[in-house]
Amino acid sequence: MKTCSRRDLFKYLGAGSLALMLPTLSRLSSGQAWAQDNQLDPASPQAAALGYVHHFEEVDRETWTRYAPGQMCSNCQLAQGDLSADWFNCAIFPGKQVAKEGWCNAWVQRQG
Ligand code: SF4
Repeated sequence: MKTCSRRDLFKYLGAGSLALMLPTLSRLSSGQAWAQDNQLDPASPQAAALGYVHHFEEVDRETWTRYAPGQMCSNCQLAQGDLSADWFNCAIFPGKQVAKEGWCNAWVQRQG
């Protein structure tokens, strides 16, 4: 019968731990790729119809007269998720991420 030394035990535990972490690490990296691939394109028909821009300074104020200084996605009621992140979800654009300092004509003052 083969004996297992303490060194062998740590070696197997280390390899096992790494094997358990690989799926998690893989999901994390694919999540970042998903976020980049799903940034809302301001030129897309839905975004353009609401005047969405990645930064509030880009708002065409002659066209989008509802805009007022201080309005941005991170203080909009329709923003979803971690609003301290650079990109997060929006109820108006399902499956897409909007920029923290973005803006569109559907902006609503966030409560609370
Ligand atoms: S609805 Fe609000 S969070 Fe969504 S894009 Fe417009 S301003 Fe940003």
